[in-house]
Amino acid sequence: MDDARTERPLALSEQEIATLARSLEEAAPQAILAWALDRFAGRVALACSFQAEDVALIDMAAAAGRLTAVTVFYLDTGLHFPETYATCRRVAEYYGIEPVAVKPALTVDEQAARYGPDLWARDPDLCCRLRKVEPLRRFLRGFDAWITGIRREQTPQRARTAVIEADRRFGLVKVNPLARWTRNQLWDYVLRRGVPYNPLHDRGYPSIGCAPCTRPVGPDEDPRAGRWAGFTKTECGLHA
Ligand code: SF4
Repeated sequence: MDDARTERPLALSEQEIATLARSLEEAAPQAILAWALDRFAGRVALACSFQAEDVALIDMAAAAGRLTAVTVFYLDTGLHFPETYATCRRVAEYYGIEPVAVKPALTVDEQAARYGPDLWARDPDLCCRLRKVEPLRRFLRGFDAWITGIRREQTPQRARTAVIEADRRFGLVKVNPLARWTRNQLWDYVLRRGVPYNPLHDRGYPSIGCAPCTRPVGPDEDPRAGRWAGFTKTECGLHA
């Protein structure tokens, strides 16, 4: 796992971040997002994997008329489901945005030539580092803050996520407006607002990553049990 840190000063002090996290802890996601878009306008990126959480955040920014304040991007690993790429195109059209495709240094074929075929099946940590973490690190150098759709109830590792954090790995302020939201609150928002979402969510995929590393889950399974099934891995390394 890549635990390298970016040596750059944060745009806010650790004390400011802790104070803000406390003061915004009970705020609605829209208010937390609005704060981030005001404070970091033009210097903030929104990470989108085209799962319901991320598109809900895009919808909130659009509803507030603030989409121009943020750069929407996705990690284009080259290994997403066709439905995910189709959702990308639908979201782009619906909101009138052009999500930035952040690509790895190596194509899937080049990675296979250098590391052997199906690296994800043998060393998913290395594969995630090459196709997600390193491209993200390069891309985020141009920003002061990033916004994510992670929620506390998704995994035990995310249970202590603050709504605003110091992300020392990337040298950024990290904003998690949905941290407190439950799955029901999320889907209530998505359905009420008619947010376009990945159809795989309706086919047993509560959590959607790259196609080789994601399977559908049963009704009694943990929502993220379908990610890296067969490995102890639970995170791609972006939110460590
Ligand atoms: S999720 Fe799987 S295929 Fe995608 S980058 Fe990570 S290991 Fe590779």
